[in-house]
Amino acid sequence: MNSRNTLRLSTITNWAYAVTVTLTLASGAAMLLASNAQETEREAVAQRHAFDQATSNLDTEVNALGSLARQYVVSGNPADLAAYQRELSSLGAVEERTRHIRDAGALADELDALHDALRQADGMRDIEAAALAAAKAGDHSKAIDIAFSADFGRSLERARRDVERFQYRLDQRTDLAVQRAEEVSRVWRTVAESMLIITGLVFLFVLYFIFRRRVLHPVVKLSDVVSRLAAQDFAVEPPRYDRIDEIGDMAQALRVFRENGLVRQRLEREREADRVMRDSLSRMTQRLHGCNDTQDLIGVVERFTPELLPYTRGQLYLLDAERVAMRAACSWKSPRHTSETFSPDACWGIRRGSLHRPAGKQVDVPCAHLQLADGAVPDTCCLPLAGQHGALGMLYLEFSDGTPHDGSLYEYLRMLAENIGFALDNLHLRDTLRELAMADPLTGLRNRRQLDLWTQDELAKTARTGQETACAMVDIDFFKQFNDDDGHDAGDAVLRAVGGVLRQATDDADLVFRYGGEEFAVLMVGVNAEEAVRRAEGMRAGIAALVVDHDGKPLGPVTASVGVASAPAECARASLIQCADAALLEAKRKGRNRVERHAAEVRRGASIA
Ligand code: GH3
Ligand code: MG
Ligand code: MG
Repeated sequence: MNSRNTLRLSTITNWAYAVTVTLTLASGAAMLLASNAQETEREAVAQRHAFDQATSNLDTEVNALGSLARQYVVSGNPADLAAYQRELSSLGAVEERTRHIRDAGALADELDALHDALRQADGMRDIEAAALAAAKAGDHSKAIDIAFSADFGRSLERARRDVERFQYRLDQRTDLAVQRAEEVSRVWRTVAESMLIITGLVFLFVLYFIFRRRVLHPVVKLSDVVSRLAAQDFAVEPPRYDRIDEIGDMAQALRVFRENGLVRQRLEREREADRVMRDSLSRMTQRLHGCNDTQDLIGVVERFTPELLPYTRGQLYLLDAERVAMRAACSWKSPRHTSETFSPDACWGIRRGSLHRPAGKQVDVPCAHLQLADGAVPDTCCLPLAGQHGALGMLYLEFSDGTPHDGSLYEYLRMLAENIGFALDNLHLRDTLRELAMADPLTGLRNRRQLDLWTQDELAKTARTGQETACAMVDIDFFKQFNDDDGHDAGDAVLRAVGGVLRQATDDADLVFRYGGEEFAVLMVGVNAEEAVRRAEGMRAGIAALVVDHDGKPLGPVTASVGVASAPAECARASLIQCADAALLEAKRKGRNRVERHAAEVRRGASIA
């Protein structure tokens, strides 16, 4: 929940509070008004009751004297006369008689009407007095006439009607007042009750709203977040409740928990990625150590590097044998910005002996072997592959967008370059040692051990292909004499010179061996005996033509004897060297400085037999 929602929620709550309070106050006021109206109603009823009480005697009062007078006129009973006179004497002034009605709240015009009625009634006293006087005088019929005259009856009737009218007016007014008071009281009661109901409903709504929006809703949401976090699902975003209460605290705690979880997850991922990377690097290093030659190494680099650095294109460069050029040995994903061959000086990485990245965060010089389009410097990296005696190669990388250039990447790159560099250095060292072990230091030719290996491996191959193979064994004649006459160094000079002649006389210099002492073996693959003899003759002639200088003076003439054998035409492949050696002995025996063919000896031997 964002702050805007929070604001809206609090605004709504505040409004709801205000409405509730207003309604409560209003319903309180309505209740007061209802109570007042009830009071008014009560007063109106009380007034009506008071009027009823006050006016109840009026009728009697108006009729009583007339009736008593008539009763006496008819009966002539003095008791009736006494009752009349008693009644008459108790009658006060009109205002006196109506005082309690006035006190009960009768209006001025009503009182006037009442007074008129009473005065009208009082007007009948004279008629009654005349009737009573006639009765007292014994004129009974006259008294009857007067007391029951139409005039008296009308006056009596008018007075009664006037009183009734007054009572009717009073009743009308008080009934109306009571009715109105009841009406007003009912209305205010209804208003007060309705407002109380509305207030109650609003209060309940506010309570529900607050409970639902501020308690239930957040608690349900937070509980969902808790379950997902418990299941290690840190993708869930805990809601923000910027409130200073338990829910706000809980949301804050969940956010902290999630952030910690994310950090832990990221660290675990990084540790796992690091483990995988180091494992791959370690396997690559093992394979590199197992490489027999540079081709093996190139194969390993070509296979492993794209796996280790999937976000790169790249190329492996190796320093050529002459140590003047870096040549591409293999590549992956077709790098776009580098040359196939370049001078080691063209690479800043090789010159500086460390990783070089011209387009990183820090500005740097692009290497001359980069092909820059529009002058833009691509994101590349040159990793020199160093041996003990300088760079042996270079690992060139082009980074694609999104490559994570963090510290661990460069640590891996350095480890990678170090491992390949060590492996290259080892191979070079091994080659050098092999060369040293296989080569004759004096003549630079291969030695007897290498001849043995060759005969083991290569002769077996020619056996499979059926190729003819010849061998010429060359021995310098009277070599001991050079040593004896001019010293050992002179003998060495002669050996070097003869080695040079033999190397030049063959197609493959790798197949000229120093067999031992002043004796050499020359192997010729795919050459038959006749051709071998012809070539051997050339060797012999070349040696005979040598003029070897030693200490500024020419040594005596050098000659050599040569024995030639060929397999399988003239002997078994396994005994090719021995047969050639036997032919050489024959050449020595026959007087030296000559070529002798093994087959000839065999043939001769056969003819003697
Ligand atoms: P032949 O014509 O019968 O072959 O006679 P030779 O003198 O050539 O043969 P011999 O076997 O009598 O002498 C070979 C000598 O070569 C003996 C040895 O001291 C010498 N020798 C062997 N290896 C070397 C070497 O590396 N340098 C020098 N200077 N002499 C060597
Ligand atoms: Mg010799
Ligand atoms: Mg010899």
